[in-house]
Amino acid sequence: MTTDNYKNCSDNNRICVPETTLPRVVVVGGGFAGLSFIKQLKNKLVQLILIDKGNHHQFLPLLYQVATSGIAPDSIVFPFRKLFRKYKNVTYRMAEVLHVNPQKNRIETNIGVVEYDYLVLATGSTTNFFGIDSIARFGIGLKSVPDALDIRSHLLQNLEQAAITCNKDEKEALSSVVIVGGGPAGVEMAGALAEFKKYILPKDYPELRSTNIKIHLIEATGKLLQEMPEELSDKTLSYLEKMDVEVLLNTAVEAYNGEIVKLNNAKFIKASALIWTAGIKGKVPAGLDISVLNRQNRIKVDRLNHVEGYDNIFVIGDLAVMETKKYPRGHPMVAQVAIQQGRKLADNLLAILNNKTVDDFEYKDKGSMATIGKKKAVASIRNLRISGFPAWLIWSFIHLMSIIGVRNKFLIGLNWMWSYFTYDKGDRVIIRKYQPETGNHHEMIKKAFELKN
Ligand SMILES: Cc1cc2nc3c(=O)[nH]c(=O)nc-3n(C[C@H](O)[C@H](O)[C@H](O)COP(=O)(O)OP(=O)(O)OC[C@H]3O[C@@H](n4cnc5c(N)ncnc54)[C@H](O)[C@@H]3O)c2cc1C
Repeated sequence: MTTDNYKNCSDNNRICVPETTLPRVVVVGGGFAGLSFIKQLKNKLVQLILIDKGNHHQFLPLLYQVATSGIAPDSIVFPFRKLFRKYKNVTYRMAEVLHVNPQKNRIETNIGVVEYDYLVLATGSTTNFFGIDSIARFGIGLKSVPDALDIRSHLLQNLEQAAITCNKDEKEALSSVVIVGGGPAGVEMAGALAEFKKYILPKDYPELRSTNIKIHLIEATGKLLQEMPEELSDKTLSYLEKMDVEVLLNTAVEAYNGEIVKLNNAKFIKASALIWTAGIKGKVPAGLDISVLNRQNRIKVDRLNHVEGYDNIFVIGDLAVMETKKYPRGHPMVAQVAIQQGRKLADNLLAILNNKTVDDFEYKDKGSMATIGKKKAVASIRNLRISGFPAWLIWSFIHLMSIIGVRNKFLIGLNWMWSYFTYDKGDRVIIRKYQPETGNHHEMIKKAFELKN
């Protein structure tokens, strides 16, 4: 392989990558889809350039545990450079892709341009606030490790503020949380916070013992966990209610000012934290024709994950929407779809390069699951409907096995065992820059809102 030649590095406008005689595939995004694509092409006769704006892969399904002080952030991430030590055909560059230029077969990033023979877009999705400015401004999404850390600090700062406030209403608002969206992320977040409230708060915050702390989960449709069979959705609802979570179905949030949540039924909830898990949309770099996008901002692809009208551009994972007979509105935006599409596209690309026949993508649904708390989970695997302790064991095992890195598996396993036996959570630390000019973050929220209005 001729991948050790760096002739182009003197050009400042170019990202410095090895020259090669092999076909160059630029992969944008090292999430589940991008990584599975690259792994499948390990040391094959293609040059792979991975561009990601972060220097690590993030295991998003466990973000809620970081946000609720259950595990440390570094146990759910893995650095790309370490991951690719034994990959002779992979070059990683940390850059944010801003623009795709299909006419010149190149992408433009914040650190320069790079040419491709084939482009694979795997930039995933981002939080969709559906144009509600007040929620985008004062609510917090849950799509990345920084989001999770922001939520963790925000909740803990609120509790510190609640502990020193004499006003009863303010105390309640500061210690209450609204979670919007009854999908897996919202349900898991609500369950983890309910356990935090039950087991940690009375010990750590004796000042709040008599405070009426509320955790609300708000879902616009009539069902939690849309993808699950009815009986498991009902089970989830009953678990959450028993854990003292106030679940509001058929209810939508209309606005939020950092203090008060306005609902579509003309009711209001006082809460100084709003966590938004109610919508996502594709994260599309500029440059492609608008006709390739669907209403969710995802890029329409055919059964080979190929974008119509662009010979050498492919899209995989959350960003891709592939309409099939079984999935007329596209596949669910979940890790398994991303992983399977990455692998299949890698096989198909090798077939294209070697003039062999290609194969349509067919999603093999391995089931879905969600955990609500200790010994409480639901799982739908083929025709099996499992709940309670067995589902929780399956959930724990599958997630532990899916995490990249032996160290990460060990750290998370240890953390879970510790919490299981002690009912404790180890990572209750506020890591945020102190704002001396505003005094505390609660004041900051109020001031920000006053400024806006
Ligand atoms: C809180 C939460 C919980 C979830 N729980 C589950 C679950 O339990 N089970 C499940 O199956 N799925 C779950 N999902 C969904 C699952 O994580 C996604 O379907 C999956 O991550 C999609 O993979 P992807 O590779 O398409 O995108 P991602 O994993 O999002 O990866 C996208 C990558 O692209 C990079 N990137 C983005 N834009 C740019 C740019 N312009 N330039 C350079 N790099 C860029 C990002 O840094 C990132 O590394 C959850 C998601 C969230 C947010």
